[in-house]
Amino acid sequence: MNANVRFADHYEPLIGGERTSLSDQSFDAVNAATGARLATITRGGAADVNAAVAAAKAALPAWAATPVGQRAGLLHQLADWVETNLDRLAMIDAMDIGRTIGETPIDHRIAVNQYRFFAAAAVTHTGWNNPIPGGWAIAKREPLGVVGQIIPWNVPAIMTAFKIAPALAAGNTLVLKPDENASLSTLELCVALAEIFPPGVVNVVPGMGTEAGAALTAHPDVAKLAFTGSAEVGRIIAHAGADRLVPVSLELGGKSPNIVFPDVDGLDRVVDNAAFAATYCNGQSCLAGTRLFLHDDIYDDFLSRLKKVFEGIAVGSPVDPTTRLGCLVSQKQGERVLDFIASGKQEATLVTGGSRAAVPGNEAGWFIEPTVFETDNNSRIAQQEIFGPVLSVIRWRDYDQMIDQANGVEYGLASGIYTSNLANAMRTADRLKAGSVWVNQYFNLVDGSPFGGYHGSGLGREYCAATLDMYTQLKSIVLSEEVPPPMFG
Ligand code: NAD
Repeated sequence: MNANVRFADHYEPLIGGERTSLSDQSFDAVNAATGARLATITRGGAADVNAAVAAAKAALPAWAATPVGQRAGLLHQLADWVETNLDRLAMIDAMDIGRTIGETPIDHRIAVNQYRFFAAAAVTHTGWNNPIPGGWAIAKREPLGVVGQIIPWNVPAIMTAFKIAPALAAGNTLVLKPDENASLSTLELCVALAEIFPPGVVNVVPGMGTEAGAALTAHPDVAKLAFTGSAEVGRIIAHAGADRLVPVSLELGGKSPNIVFPDVDGLDRVVDNAAFAATYCNGQSCLAGTRLFLHDDIYDDFLSRLKKVFEGIAVGSPVDPTTRLGCLVSQKQGERVLDFIASGKQEATLVTGGSRAAVPGNEAGWFIEPTVFETDNNSRIAQQEIFGPVLSVIRWRDYDQMIDQANGVEYGLASGIYTSNLANAMRTADRLKAGSVWVNQYFNLVDGSPFGGYHGSGLGREYCAATLDMYTQLKSIVLSEEVPPPMFG
């Protein structure tokens, strides 16, 4: 694999099967590490969104009537295309968003699995029918209609697949708005989307949140909104859904606890896994294990090993296969993370890291040293989502107090537990207010497992068969063999 990826000079929206722009505005996609221009992208506006929604609406009756097996077949074709083009797509993401080339292929493999998973799940996602005296009661599943979907920049391939796979499998048509910082791999995917799906079934409009995103959110012909991103924008989307009474699913942020019990086997492995939990995706993961609760008995030993592991993490060019930590997606994100680090230096004890790192040849990149603070659960760095490689370590001794603290943030997306006692693991898992609990292996994503959050982390579940419930509604049809005898004489 090499970094000599050729890009189209200009990427346009995919509307009704054509690459076309109504907007005359554009923006540049730049290499997150070097600052070099990669391509120019149409800055979609309300006119593009209106055309895309109209195309999706026109395509809906035929797509909804397409037998589910045929829809599934097309999703498998999309999965095949991603597999064939995986190296190139992974390199595009590494250049576009600064994630390492060691990681970005994993995103595309997860995407492939999503297309295949929903192709299979849709076939078995049926309604039911019950014979009743003199007839039948039927519950039939129907798609919702045109779905509006908005995604963030951190894992664009996964986000695109999480959104379009279940929506299409269930018979909806859609308009997707990728993030302005990470549109390129999704726009490349449009080559396959245009070839594989009937015109208008999938439409993609790149652009800004307050322009294309807001137009999509407010569009009266959109029957469902699906969003992944910040809690702040999630609330805007939820209000828009409430105004028009359309269902909304939200995947928002996280500040996940990762809990180490003193009975763990193989401390070095746990240290390594906890470091991975905090730094994978350059720490720009809503799932990241960013609050590490270490039991008092092992605290000092664990922390000194953790410091060594963090100091050994190779920070470097995202396209270098030996790099373990690339750069953040943008200057805005870099400054935000450094601001959190500055407040950490005021309110907590810095263990390691804490500065911007320089990587020769990549001067535009916002590389951040893998950073560890010792702190308590009330500090700003322990309460707020940082979205960078910054870990808050919290000492614990009292179990109930630790559980209260683990649950004591506005989010509830993921959590981790390390223990050799299975009963302890299950008891603790029961008490954590989080959509996912991983025991002894953080980020252990399994296709088909529910993914979503408690309270401030969102509404709904993706990644699993139940996601199809969010993209369908049930109609009840009751058939009587005969019209009943007259009641009125
Ligand atoms: P963001 O909410 O600013 O942007 C996400 C998307 O929303 C982008 O496509 C953006 O253009 C769009 N958008 C922005 N303003 C909008 C508006 N007014 N109307 C409609 N659309 C609008 O989020 P971000 O800062 O780019 O991403 C980071 C956040 O996303 C973090 O908080 C992170 O935890 C969260 N996230 C959550 C998950 C998850 O699955 N739970 C996954 C990835 C990221």
